[in-house]
Amino acid sequence: MNTLAPRLPHDIRVFERGWLSSNNILIRGRDAAALIDSGYVTHAPQTLALLGSALQGRALDVLVNTHLHSDHCGGNAALQGRYPALRTLIPPGHSQQVSHWDAQALTYTPTGQSCPQFGFDALLRPGSEIRLGDSLWQVHAAPGHDPHSVILFEPAARLLVSADALWERGFGVIFPELEGRDAFDAVAQTIDLIESLNPTIVIPGHGPVFAGVEAAIAFARGRLAGFVANPAKHIKHAVKVLLKFKLLELQSIECAAFVAWAQATPYFLAIYRQHYSEIDFAQWVDELIADLVRAGAAERDGLLIRNVG
Ligand SMILES: [Zn+2]
Repeated sequence: MNTLAPRLPHDIRVFERGWLSSNNILIRGRDAAALIDSGYVTHAPQTLALLGSALQGRALDVLVNTHLHSDHCGGNAALQGRYPALRTLIPPGHSQQVSHWDAQALTYTPTGQSCPQFGFDALLRPGSEIRLGDSLWQVHAAPGHDPHSVILFEPAARLLVSADALWERGFGVIFPELEGRDAFDAVAQTIDLIESLNPTIVIPGHGPVFAGVEAAIAFARGRLAGFVANPAKHIKHAVKVLLKFKLLELQSIECAAFVAWAQATPYFLAIYRQHYSEIDFAQWVDELIADLVRAGAAERDGLLIRNVG
């Protein structure tokens, strides 16, 4: 928890989780308790423990996902198991793929990430409102990082749950761009939307809760402008984020096994073929690891690559 975080309404608690698991936002009302986003699967026991201690014997009634990346809904199955009456709401964009459990379309297979199958009860439609705790929250479409993501805004307290559309320093990897689909404009429009909502407090998908949205917006626009001017920079950033995510999950892995994992992971292979095929695949991954080591995000220990931070 960030001790300098702005003061949230008393009925909202944010479990700040880091980068492998998204933050979890618990909203306790008089009649119902709701959770926004459930973290990554390997952290599901911790998610259940945090929630159980906060709810003190009360049940969780509603689970909402801002989007269906594995670090935001990897705890859904565990929560549905723990709280049998739980109602789960997801954005409509990939609801059919959840119904049929298409791990390819849901990006778990192409990113080499895990997410246990879960079901849902209703849709979180952009343009609608949803009662979470005792307040009504607006549901807004927020494409860019993920074409189907939503963000949630509570206008009375001007609170924004921004998912991975806006962090204090930047935003999440722009996944459609990895598949060759233009999404920089969508990111820009979502930032404009956030500016128009003018929140006083932002609860991001990762990192601390923050006030002062202007600075975050200015930083995000600067980063986006850098990617627009040099899309290769975004691609390189994205593959390093995917490597780091796997390292966060595994904590350590032999270099050769890491290369083999990347080679078996469709996004890596597709990006390599499209952008880097003039160099050897293993050498490409080795250079990306060297970048992570230089940035202090990993370290080499003999044949092992270890996570740092
Ligand atoms: Zn995401």
